[in-house]
Amino acid sequence: MRQTITVFKGDGIGPEITDAVIRVMDAAGAELDYEIYNVGEAEYEAHGELIPKAAFESMERNKVLLKSPITTPVGKGFRSLNVFLRKKYDLYANIRPARSNHAVKTPFQDVDIVIFRENTEDLYVGVEEKIDENTVHATKLITRRASERIIRDAFEYARAHGRKKVTCVHKANILKISDGLFRDIFYEIREAYPEIAADDKIVDNVCMQMVMNPQQFDVMVMPNLYGDMLSDLASGLIGGLGLLPSSNLGEEFAMFEAVHGSAPDIAGKGIANPTALLWSACMMLEHLGQMECAAKIRRSVDTVLEEGAFNTPDIGGNATTAEYVEEIIKRL
Ligand code: ATP
Ligand code: MG
Repeated sequence: MRQTITVFKGDGIGPEITDAVIRVMDAAGAELDYEIYNVGEAEYEAHGELIPKAAFESMERNKVLLKSPITTPVGKGFRSLNVFLRKKYDLYANIRPARSNHAVKTPFQDVDIVIFRENTEDLYVGVEEKIDENTVHATKLITRRASERIIRDAFEYARAHGRKKVTCVHKANILKISDGLFRDIFYEIREAYPEIAADDKIVDNVCMQMVMNPQQFDVMVMPNLYGDMLSDLASGLIGGLGLLPSSNLGEEFAMFEAVHGSAPDIAGKGIANPTALLWSACMMLEHLGQMECAAKIRRSVDTVLEEGAFNTPDIGGNATTAEYVEEIIKRL
């Protein structure tokens, strides 16, 4: 059965990698129709709106969004369009799988970590208050509802994917009440998953351990801010931002995007690595039940990366985006 999804083409390398990903999905026989919208800074400059009304309507109709990186212009009413979308559609679970690909040389082997980042609260509620000229308060919000659902999702994922361990990351030694609540809820929820190991670690210690011995980590669950930072760290372990996909899931909507930003420094040069968005698209196809198609794309990407002759510059090659994509399509 054909399904319709919404696509947001954003800024910087966004349009190039989106076109690349759609070409691969079409070549792989994805049963998809697309409603494609330009969004972000370029769209604002062209038509005066960051996200056109029709784009929101499409997302609300289709429930599934493939989103390229967007630049949020300063002073246009949004702190961050990404944070805005995650909140508007209650996309509370940000799932970021970082797995080593032995074709991509890094100092770390056999990393296979799935980060579950809470996506709607913590310091990202963005409530800052000036007390006086020299004093500012920022709100860190942790609620039972949001913590329970992200932690449960992490354990459900571990169960469904045969994972062995879930690690809770926090700073409850200092933030005893807020992160303390998150950690307490973690141990409540884990009662229902006796077959899965569970432990908790303080975020600073985790930073060191992820670099010293990343293989010890399996599924990890954490509040928003630590998730933001540790997922970039995880991307470094596997060869960089060009290789880290993500899904943002809520009860009603789902959004799939690369973890990286719009990379203005390489925009328009034709050398962006589309893999992160392509793997995000694979997660989307799996979410939609198109497993075969996703598997086909993953196999083809693995083969091309492994052969290495058509890798993009960010992972040590010298191919263009177009050449890389052409090779993937040939091997489908
Ligand atoms: P944002 O604020 O939107 O998160 P950022 O400042 O974190 O943006 P990114 O756009 O994520 O920056 O880029 C960080 C670096 O990684 C840049 O040098 C960029 O060129 C590189 N980079 C990011 N994504 C890719 C990609 N898909 N292919 C190649 N290089 C990339
Ligand atoms: Mg960034």
